[in-house]
Amino acid sequence: MGLFDKKDKYFRINPNRSVRREKSPKPEVPDQLFDKCPSCKHLIYHKDLGLTKICPTCFYNFRISALERLAVTVDEGTFEDLFSGLETKDPLNFPKYQEKLAQAREKTGLDEAVLTGLAEIKGQKTALAIMDANFIMASMGTIVGEKITRLFEFATKEKLPVVIFTASGGARMQEGIMSLMQMAKISAAVKRHSNAGLFYLTVLTDPTTGGVTASFAMEGDVILAEPQIVVGFAGRRVIETTVKQDLPDDFQKAEFLLEHGFVDKIVKRVDLPDVIGNLLAFHGGV
Ligand SMILES: [Zn+2]
Repeated sequence: MGLFDKKDKYFRINPNRSVRREKSPKPEVPDQLFDKCPSCKHLIYHKDLGLTKICPTCFYNFRISALERLAVTVDEGTFEDLFSGLETKDPLNFPKYQEKLAQAREKTGLDEAVLTGLAEIKGQKTALAIMDANFIMASMGTIVGEKITRLFEFATKEKLPVVIFTASGGARMQEGIMSLMQMAKISAAVKRHSNAGLFYLTVLTDPTTGGVTASFAMEGDVILAEPQIVVGFAGRRVIETTVKQDLPDDFQKAEFLLEHGFVDKIVKRVDLPDVIGNLLAFHGGV
């Protein structure tokens, strides 16, 4: 052990050589100059993605925020925000939940994971909800449930169709059982809207999973989906472990769902306003 106690006997520190050279500063690249396509892995100059954010190489539809979705979907200047400003009572007093909500609000500019209101799409008036995966993975808590329920009740009273762009990681675990209850609450409102003979259209976007898939995402009269998106209930790994089988590569992809009858049509983002406008007009638009 003595060997280690007497370091200075064997080594000499040269102060000139031990000084580390300053690393040359990295070249500064402005944020978001390039985006990498998650599908084909090509780097794309950000401006080339355009407003619709579609990869020019493989036509992958990038995930977009609710506000970006609004900009590429509804007729300019027609959106009227409804039912915002509600706040969760945080029923479990879940640790750090309020901080997480505050961060999500700051990041997205939304009050919750869904934007609800009135809009016109290709001249057709509709009640509209857009979920935003950037807001705690668009998980469904009490406020998401309440906003969508109120939207359906409003549409039923005003005799309006409902269009919902779904996206979700599932129920919001920070609100426990209260989150799961939203599935039944929204479904009841969907049924009352349907009983009134009104049209409900869902557009599945990446990713639509968990309790949202198991309730209102799959209750549309017509169900559209963007290409290549993930739609499912439990995650792929959970299912593979449970059933002890390998699943096909395209399992839980929109194309797989179309083939098996869960989706009516896959529509590219650029074509969505026209397709939605036509469906609304066809189903007795207002
Ligand atoms: Zn691509």
